[in-house]
Amino acid sequence: MIEYDALPAIYGSPAYVYDLDRVDRARAELVESLPAGATLLYSLKANPHVAVVRTLVEGGCRPEISSTGELAAALQGGGEPAGFVYTGPGKTAGEIAAALDAGVRTFSVESPTDLRRVAGIARGRGVTARCLLRVNGAEAAGHAGMRMTGAASQFGTDAELLAGMRAELTGPDTDGARIVGFHFFPVTNAIDGDALLAELLGSIRTADRLRTELGVEVTQLDLGGGFACPFATPGERPRYPGLRVALEAELDTRFPGWRTGEVEVAFESGRHLVGDSGTLLCSVSDVKHSRGTRFVVLDAGINHLGGLSGIGRLLPLSATPLAGAPVPGPADAPADGPGEPTRLVGPLCTPADTLGRGATELPPVTPGQVLAIPNVGAYGATASLIGFLSRPGAVEIAVRGAEVVSATRLELVRTPVTAAGTVPAAAPDTATGTATGTAGSSRTDAAAGANDGANDGTNDGTNAGTTGSVNGGVNGGGWDPAFPAVLRSVLPRLAGSDAEVGPDDSLRVAGLDSLALVEVLVRLEETYAVTIPDELLTPEVFETPRGLWTLLGSVRA
Ligand SMILES: *Cc1c(COP(=O)(O)O)cnc(C)c1O
Repeated sequence: MIEYDALPAIYGSPAYVYDLDRVDRARAELVESLPAGATLLYSLKANPHVAVVRTLVEGGCRPEISSTGELAAALQGGGEPAGFVYTGPGKTAGEIAAALDAGVRTFSVESPTDLRRVAGIARGRGVTARCLLRVNGAEAAGHAGMRMTGAASQFGTDAELLAGMRAELTGPDTDGARIVGFHFFPVTNAIDGDALLAELLGSIRTADRLRTELGVEVTQLDLGGGFACPFATPGERPRYPGLRVALEAELDTRFPGWRTGEVEVAFESGRHLVGDSGTLLCSVSDVKHSRGTRFVVLDAGINHLGGLSGIGRLLPLSATPLAGAPVPGPADAPADGPGEPTRLVGPLCTPADTLGRGATELPPVTPGQVLAIPNVGAYGATASLIGFLSRPGAVEIAVRGAEVVSATRLELVRTPVTAAGTVPAAAPDTATGTATGTAGSSRTDAAAGANDGANDGTNDGTNAGTTGSVNGGVNGGGWDPAFPAVLRSVLPRLAGSDAEVGPDDSLRVAGLDSLALVEVLVRLEETYAVTIPDELLTPEVFETPRGLWTLLGSVRA
């Protein structure tokens, strides 16, 4: 084992450490809970670090990729492109061409348009693309209160619509593509094994029904995943002991050829495979006290850990001082009061650079001390706002046993774009740039893609507001005076106004952008001594004062 507390002094801080032995363990345990012989795909979106990818490829996983940057990382990691699955709702002609040219043959297609696009490009190259139709299932999941009917989705095609698309899916303009099966990915981060099982069984049934309706001979069935892992808080990966037997039984009934390999059954995972391998080590830069709140300023911010904060979701993260002796701070280091409400903030000049809020459990700390944030091997470095404020990225250290395998830093590089590289409006776009890009730019691609599946439905709520006046409302909200005071203290257009804050005023009109949103949340949590779970932060909540007040009521109850 490597002493983590020594690493920042050697390689710099902040530093992600990825323990490749833990990656192996997670893979082996997940494989044990899946049907025997099933394919396990690794979704590079979670972490495209080459050492991580290589570890999983060597362990038998195949890459699931959705950009040319991920394609490059998958190849670098030693993957065999014929086994990759290329997914994504907005595949461009350029990236499809780049993938085909690299030897990728399997694509998850999202719609008839996507199918025709893949088909046309494959046809032009004289090859056949194997296509999985991505399905947005309509099966009611077997658990109360979650998805009773299929929800609207930007991913895939609704199962009930697919049934009527037989002609569209088989016309001459689909020559070049062969539909080989279906792809599902209905849930993410499913902690409850029973709910996940119900979802996966539903997908098998839907695939069985669709193959008859569409006349598809299924040789590949990608059932997706949704395997969970805690993020930036302590805890264990959930285990799924109940999946294997139940899934094998359902497959035996519906797709008996799966036992002999006539139907390849695949599952996908990102966070579950790599989440618990990663720890972010960071250092305390300053400890300050302001009006009853302790601010622990870290050298890690939302540019290192916080793609989620950047879109209005806050990390309820947990940091612990490492066991080693604290690095002594300067002699004038401020006294630190335990039990004080604490905010963990980063180095960026924006109140949005808040990594943890509310009353955290962090004991007294001093500048120079190294803190560890656990379970950040997935959606960490490349899911962060790495370009914001132009600070260097975190160091990324891959370790195995007592050995440091690699220590690197991801950098953004500005490169010239020639006029020839620009795309005339009418022409199909060309495959340039990213496929041959540096590791740095490739990984940036991955970062840009990291938010789609990870954060379905977490749009910046501030954009969904209605229009209307912030003034002239009646205080029918029934709130106490502290509530409008918080809103006034943060929202610029309320601050100078004497008018009442009305329950149905538009917070967006009042100036609630994504930065102000973070500030409002933090202040409300401090004022009312509550923690607002991220799951409750829907766009509707941020439309009006009434929405916010109702939310507060629900967490204070
Ligand atoms: C994001 C994504 C994954 C990985 O999700 P995890 O929750 O990290 O396992 C797998 N498949 C698809 C299609 C995705 O979009």
